[in-house]
Amino acid sequence: MPVIESEEHKALRAAVSALGHKYGRAYFTRTVEEGRPATELWAEAAKLGYLGVNLPEEHGGGGGGISELSIVLEELGAAGCPLLLMVVSPAICGTVIARFGTEEQKRDWLPALADGTRTMAFGITEPDAGSNSHRITTTARRDTATGDWVLTGRKVFVSGVDIADATLIVSRTEDARTGRLKPCLFIVPRDTPGFQRHKIDMELSAAEKQFELVLEDVRLPADALVGGGEGEDAGLLQLFAGLNPERIMTAAFAIGMGRFALARAVEYARDRTVWKAPIGSHQAIAHPLAQAHIDLELARLMMQKAAHLYDAGDDIGAGEAANMAKYAAAEACVKAVDQAVHTLGGNGLTREFGLASLITAARVSRIAPVSREMILNYVSHQTLGLPKSY
Ligand SMILES: Cc1cc2nc3c(=O)[nH]c(=O)nc-3n(C[C@H](O)[C@H](O)[C@H](O)COP(=O)(O)OP(=O)(O)OC[C@H]3O[C@@H](n4cnc5c(N)ncnc54)[C@H](O)[C@@H]3O)c2cc1C
Repeated sequence: MPVIESEEHKALRAAVSALGHKYGRAYFTRTVEEGRPATELWAEAAKLGYLGVNLPEEHGGGGGGISELSIVLEELGAAGCPLLLMVVSPAICGTVIARFGTEEQKRDWLPALADGTRTMAFGITEPDAGSNSHRITTTARRDTATGDWVLTGRKVFVSGVDIADATLIVSRTEDARTGRLKPCLFIVPRDTPGFQRHKIDMELSAAEKQFELVLEDVRLPADALVGGGEGEDAGLLQLFAGLNPERIMTAAFAIGMGRFALARAVEYARDRTVWKAPIGSHQAIAHPLAQAHIDLELARLMMQKAAHLYDAGDDIGAGEAANMAKYAAAEACVKAVDQAVHTLGGNGLTREFGLASLITAARVSRIAPVSREMILNYVSHQTLGLPKSY
């Protein structure tokens, strides 16, 4: 793995950064205030091939990997335009369909996810099964008369369901041989009868809204099951295939946001003078900003390692690195944002400078898709071999 990025990656970074700055924070804030997604930026990023950079070439993608997609998300975030839906639509859903979808599902979805004309949300979290996804109770049963699937259950905190054309729903079905429940993934189009959504009132300034979903006898044709007939036995593998991209992309989301906040603080600290010299000359201001920069750089290194392992096909090796990258990036982001707000004094809390709203946004990367504590649990048990308390 080249520790210093390849020339192609540097060029991609520079090009995406230019696109992000063309729109900039003011554009992004406006879309959030108008309560709509950043449609123009999404469409242009797609047209330039950035959103589908990880998807297979034969289905309209760029033929790259999560390494490239994470660069796109990081740079858009660093320009003040973090597109949370990128974590879900091309990264999780695109990966799962590209690796496990039927030919028809690939043809139907991948070109559209790549060119940005369609998006897909992802729903796994349930009210009584947050961090413990083994407890999910959304069930799918087969209507033997028609061959349809019928889904029943509830989901919570699912992002972007209102704007996504469909949601990839994690469900469970009974194994006919063993009688045990096993996961399986369904593509549920937004307006399917019985698929109800209720917006959750979040204290979050973001383009994507979160929803509680109620699935009441949602009837789906047999081909809604990812992977078709074989998908019934491959649900767990499909789920795991989506987890590493999800964590790596959340790391990219956090690093981009942390870089954006840090850059605003550095800019401010260079100029703002209340004694003889700018506040940035006081080490009490400068050192925490330097620490934030170091933490973000270290997190990026782990993210690059995770992406490299994942793209090389090492799902197991990537799992540990992706968890660690997500942890490190979230911690670095939360600290960078906090320090940035503090650096601006009172201005850190004004709408004009726009940093205070990042305090809650930064916390998202610490909670979702897997919390800080669950990653520490993972490393304690999987890496260090310590016993489990739960
Ligand atoms: C903005 C946002 C967007 C989201 N988008 C999506 C989405 O698109 N799709 C989706 O499916 N979900 C989404 N989620 C849900 C997210 O993945 C969950 O919030 C997350 O998995 C945590 O689950 P929970 O909120 O139920 O917390 P809980 O599981 O109730 O955990 C609460 C606290 O207890 C701690 N805890 C729990 N178990 C343990 C343990 N064994 N040891 C130590 N500590 C523990 C946790 O770390 C956490 O701090 C989103 C959440 C947010 C906030």
